[in-house]
Amino acid sequence: MRYFQEKIETMPLEEIRKIQSEKLVRQVRHVYEHVRCYRERMDEMGVKPEDIHGIDDLRKLPFLTKDDLRDNYPFGLLAVPKKDCVRIQSTSGTTGRRVVAFYTQHDVDLWEECCARALVAAGATSDDVCQVSYGYGLFTGGPGLNGGSHKLGCLTLPMSSGNTDRQIQFMMDLGATVLCCTPSYAAYIGESLKERGIAPEDNPLKAGIFGAEPWTEEMRQGIQKALGIKAYDIYGLTEISGPGVSFECEEQQGMHINEDHFVAEIIDPDTGEVLPEGSKGELVFTCLDKEAFPLLRYRTRDICVLSRKKCSCGRTFMRMTKPMGRSDDMLIIRGVNVFPSQIETVLLKEGYAPNYQIIVDRANNTDVFDIMVEMDDDMFADTVAGITRREKALATAMKSMLGINPAIHLVAPRSIQRSEGKAVRVIDKRKLTSDRQWKG
Ligand code: ADP
Ligand code: ZN
Repeated sequence: MRYFQEKIETMPLEEIRKIQSEKLVRQVRHVYEHVRCYRERMDEMGVKPEDIHGIDDLRKLPFLTKDDLRDNYPFGLLAVPKKDCVRIQSTSGTTGRRVVAFYTQHDVDLWEECCARALVAAGATSDDVCQVSYGYGLFTGGPGLNGGSHKLGCLTLPMSSGNTDRQIQFMMDLGATVLCCTPSYAAYIGESLKERGIAPEDNPLKAGIFGAEPWTEEMRQGIQKALGIKAYDIYGLTEISGPGVSFECEEQQGMHINEDHFVAEIIDPDTGEVLPEGSKGELVFTCLDKEAFPLLRYRTRDICVLSRKKCSCGRTFMRMTKPMGRSDDMLIIRGVNVFPSQIETVLLKEGYAPNYQIIVDRANNTDVFDIMVEMDDDMFADTVAGITRREKALATAMKSMLGINPAIHLVAPRSIQRSEGKAVRVIDKRKLTSDRQWKG
């Protein structure tokens, strides 16, 4: 089995555009009629639904931001009567107050089909046992992959995250072949298997679908080795549906966007100008056929690059690169832009595991920049002089990547808290007070 929905996943570009055009015309009419916020925005810009004839007219529509979602919380953007909805999910609240999204049964089906496509692209069939170790509940990770696994007909283990002992016991006893969780939790499960003396070739897994947070190519290599599997990326966000907006195929070179449901654009985050294919910028999504919560031109704040380069898997949907952090993940430290993913890249290249925490503070009007990095048992057994040497070497490597000098603190093995969901990599004490207003 190569595709979940072959005809759709491999259709020629002209057909994709034709479908997108038809759906967009219908969708714009739907939101204009049912969502006051859109109607007002479009009226302000002097755009009527009749002005939208196809996908080329997308640019005429206004953008929508996360602040708009917060302002319209909870029902402001709902485009169908509440009684027609069957589900609510919510963002993890990584960057502020939570946002809620609504789904009709049609919207749930569409989302789960996207997840089933991702599973098949990772080599799964109905013969597989799929262990879903993303959190269940309001978070979209668990419910999304759970639904996809059902649609494909896999035997589904709805583990949710946490209780790593039980995760490993079920994996081994029930013969889980596909693992779905965040990459940081996958790394932790790998570590835990090793501690229990279970070699990579002795677990039943063959593939993993990991997403919901940024992870580097180096981290992928580490997870593949630790679990003895192929590790696939999956991307999504609650506002657009959840995981499965895009997914990786066997090429492992970027994620195919489910373009029959979602249109992607890349814009300059400062000017809003649409950038040509191949440019790096902010990813913007339009939902073509969702009924309850159909966002148009939603600014994700995720930074990536789109490509229509032909893929050897036969899928024709365009691909996006891994978003290596969001525009608002970027730290400005002593005036220099720093992405946590750059730090992770250096650490893994220098032979450390991705167990680290970045702490930024301010003292005497200067930014203080510390990185705590865990040693493995061998490093820990070294002399004090040896460890100091390592710290210096790592600081030098960081300086050449980032342009500024962090203070490196090598800490004992297993002393940095492991994550069962999205990892907390950054503690920015400069922002804690202003952030708190949003959290909760
Ligand atoms: P929150 O914004 O509160 O974290 P979500 O749980 O909906 O809410 O998370 C969506 C966000 O997670 C995306 O906008 C993106 O920043 C991040 N994300 C999801 N999948 C990936 C991935 N595969 N790689 C990098 N980042 C990802
Ligand atoms: Zn492909």
